[in-house]
Amino acid sequence: MNFEVKNTPILISEFSKVLIQWHHQHGRQNLPWQNNRDPYAVWVSEIMLQQTQVATVLERYPRFMKHFPSISILADAEIDEVLAEWSGLGYYSRARNLHACAKQVMGIYSGKFPNDPLLLAELKGIGRSTAGAIAAFAFKNRTPILDANVKRVLARIFGVEGFIQEKSVNEKLWELAQSLLPADNKVMPIYTQALMDFGATWCTSRKPVCLTTLKKCPYMDVCHARLSNRVLDLPARLKKIKSPEFECQMGLIRKGNFVLLKKRPDKAIWGGLWSLPESLWSPKMYEKNEEDVFMSINKLFDLVIPAEKVPKAWLKSSNGSVIKGPKIKHVFSHRRLWMQIWELHVIEPFNVSKMGLAWVSLRQLGKFGLPQPIKLLLEGLSLVRDDDLKN
Ligand code: SF4
Repeated sequence: MNFEVKNTPILISEFSKVLIQWHHQHGRQNLPWQNNRDPYAVWVSEIMLQQTQVATVLERYPRFMKHFPSISILADAEIDEVLAEWSGLGYYSRARNLHACAKQVMGIYSGKFPNDPLLLAELKGIGRSTAGAIAAFAFKNRTPILDANVKRVLARIFGVEGFIQEKSVNEKLWELAQSLLPADNKVMPIYTQALMDFGATWCTSRKPVCLTTLKKCPYMDVCHARLSNRVLDLPARLKKIKSPEFECQMGLIRKGNFVLLKKRPDKAIWGGLWSLPESLWSPKMYEKNEEDVFMSINKLFDLVIPAEKVPKAWLKSSNGSVIKGPKIKHVFSHRRLWMQIWELHVIEPFNVSKMGLAWVSLRQLGKFGLPQPIKLLLEGLSLVRDDDLKN
């Protein structure tokens, strides 16, 4: 090894053996995606587990696999169908990438994932660590993984200093992860699972077992962070800056049992999902001038409702026929958004064949990929009688 770690070579050679022993007793067993060597199933579970808690994946993974049981079925599906199935899981670029990757694997590799992690990492939405996991689980390839949990475990045990967001520290961790791999490739699936489980359940970010329980961590006598009393200080992280707040106005335009939805651009947040027509997102101001608010609602409705259908008078004040609805807050990883809902019941329907707009029956919402807060809002609307649109 050409870098310094603060632990003995013996620990490096013993690391995987200790971890596999730990897994026999304490690792997570019988998760539906475990012990499955089908690269397609491994890949879907790995993508879904990114940024989503295991409890949620336990519920949604079987459903997704039932809906899309093979890579060819996923590749042939419409993107709206995939987004609808992903609805509520957040980080929708994962769903778009799944769909695009399925097409790539069908087109380039005739439906069979390559077993080389370098080729896997070239596919849409598959990063280096996910490529390592697929190669290890599905092909027993001696390839390391390095997700956030693994970085934490290695930085603590081996005393890796420096901010983990920095490239040089990251490369150091990759080298370390490579050097710790078991010699026997047959144990790669269990070793990789053990590493994931240990970081997720024992050496956790805020409550590692060595600080909080009587459980005996198998590394406690050699762990650099524990021996130097710096468990919660390692790995070092750059401080997060407070995420900015934005606000927008959203139009909940209804005609009987139908609601007007607009498809979001692919590259935007919630890309490719169907949402309510909205005004531009602007930085949140605590004192908002009422006139400004009504101007942006006017603009919003002008964009989606044909001019001859807009009775301008109703937009002049909140006492008009536009009803002020709830204000919804949604927290993204890097920003917060406040959405003020304005509800308008249209008596006469209008044609919306342009601009990605569609009248959608409240009963058909399940077929559309919707952002989670919008899904909850629409599901909360009481269903009125079916009201056929004539236009
Ligand atoms: S001793 Fe504590 S910090 Fe070190 S590996 Fe074990 S749980 Fe993690």
